[in-house]
Formats: sequence, C-alpha cells, structure tokens
Amino acid sequence: MPEPLTPRSVRALLEAHGLRPSRALGQNFLTDPNTAERIVRLSGVVAGDRVLEVGPGVGSLTVALGAAGVEVTAVEIDSRLVAVLEDVLAGTGSVVVEGDALRIDWSALLDMDRPWTMVSNLPYNVATPVLIRALETAPMIGRFLVMVQREVGERIAAGAGEEAYGAVSVKVAYHCTAEVVGTVPSTVFAPRPKVESALVRLERRAAPPVEVDDPDWMFRLVRAGFATRRKMLRRALATVLGARAEDVLRAAGIDPEARAETLGLPEWAAIAAVEREAGQS
Ligand code: SAM
Repeated sequence: MPEPLTPRSVRALLEAHGLRPSRALGQNFLTDPNTAERIVRLSGVVAGDRVLEVGPGVGSLTVALGAAGVEVTAVEIDSRLVAVLEDVLAGTGSVVVEGDALRIDWSALLDMDRPWTMVSNLPYNVATPVLIRALETAPMIGRFLVMVQREVGERIAAGAGEEAYGAVSVKVAYHCTAEVVGTVPSTVFAPRPKVESALVRLERRAAPPVEVDDPDWMFRLVRAGFATRRKMLRRALATVLGARAEDVLRAAGIDPEARAETLGLPEWAAIAAVEREAGQS
C-alpha cells in the first residue's frame, strides 16, 4: 500500500514530474492524510465497495480510499497527472482513466451490477455541473461525498426559505437528499485556495419526491424563477410564461407575489403541471 500523501510528498511528486498545478483545472491538492481519512469515513464506504473518484489529482484521496479496501475507478482530465497516478497507485488495483467528467459516458465506464459511491474533491470551477451531470446521467451512483467550495456546498444542500437556496438546490432535491457534513480549512491544500471547503453527502432517492411529467419544463421554470430571485414570481416567470404567468400561478395555488426562494419542490411541480394542462387543452 502506498504511504498517505503529505505536504512533503505532494511537493516531491510535482517536482519529480516537473509539474505546476493548473488553476484553470482547479488543481488544489489535498496534503493532509487526516482529512483524506475523514472524507473516506464520512462517505460511509466499506471494504469491497466501488467508488468513482472524479479528479484524483496526485492521488491523496485515492490512496486513502485504497487503504479502506474499496475498489476505485478515477477519472482525471489532466494527462500529466495520469502519469503521476500510475506511479503513486502502482500495484493497488485502482483504475485511472483519462477523461472529462463533463463529457464521459458514465454508463460505459460504470456497470450497473452493484451501486457506486462517488467520493471526490471536485475541481471548484466545474463542481456544480459535474455533480448535476452525475445526478442526471449516472443512476448507478447511489451516494455521493463531495468536497466543494463552502458556499457551493451550502447551495447544494439548502432547503426552501434558506439564504443559500437556489435553482441548483431544487434540482438536487429532486434527485437526492443532501446535507453538509463538515467543513475543511484551506490550509490542507497545496496550493491553498482562497476559500474554505465543505463536505456534502448526498443520497439518491429511489424515486423523485414529486411526480412531474416533464422535469425539463419544470426546471426551466425554476431557472426563470431564480434568475431574478428578488422579483415576484408573476414577473420572474413572465420571461417563460408571458402574460399567462399570473393565471398559471393562481391555478397552481401559489401567491403570484411570492418569490422563488419560498417555493419547495411540490410548488414547482404544481406550477409545471398547470402549465402543461393549459398547453394540452
Ligand atoms: N482529488 C485530488 C486531491 O484531493 O488532492 C485533487 C483535487 S483537485 C481540487 C481537482 C482535480 O480535478 C484536479 O486533479 C484536476 O485536474 C481534475 N479535473 C478538473 N476538471 C476535470 C474534469 N472536467 N474531469 C475530470 N477531472 C477534472
């Protein structure tokens, strides 16, 4: 088993391979074995489980996952790091694939026989799209433990009425339950990011909590509602529903003067259903 990665060994690996971390690819490498172990513990994985890691970097988390006896498949976009990982993970059985988590075909990489857990320190600049894409296109992933920028984590897990609640929170709630289970200081990374991080655990629901005929349509309304979140809904939704916005809201039992941030999934589903019925009549 490889040794846990420390500030010294991460620096040595980067030097040995002549690498400088890429800011554009969100490369802030974890250098604290205790944090890596904590992430593994909070993910709830046990020996024999299968884990997808997006963005393994130089392998700090991958090594900790391997030590816990899980089978890791890691997807890394940077070919320079794939070469480093081949050194660090030699003989561990972890599989490293060069690829882009925003494009890769998850169903071709991850088989459906047993559930997968995603455990990842996500690249900050694309964390939300990577997570949403996995929620939408990788049904074999049943649980997620992701490290993201703290404010992104709060947005992912927020409920209606909370300060951080937004369109992303609604989409996450449709697929999963989500909670922030910890924070991580910037001091455990090299290079150090400017912000604190959050650990978010998500559990995929067996079925969405609301029945919606056309989820894409509902999420279009949600995006319009939050695009101008301080506006009353009758005005915010006019960008999609035009002059019918007020009538649609009333028919759904929603106060047209309410704001998007006060509506939960059942209310969004009700608006989407009214408009669909109106469109069909
Ligand atoms: N997991 C490592 C750790 O904790 O030290 C590295 C985390 S670093 C924040 C993010 C990693 O994601 C980098 O290795 C970066 O190259 C990789 N990455 C960035 N964009 C990616 C993408 N679209 N698909 C896959 N990997 C990506």
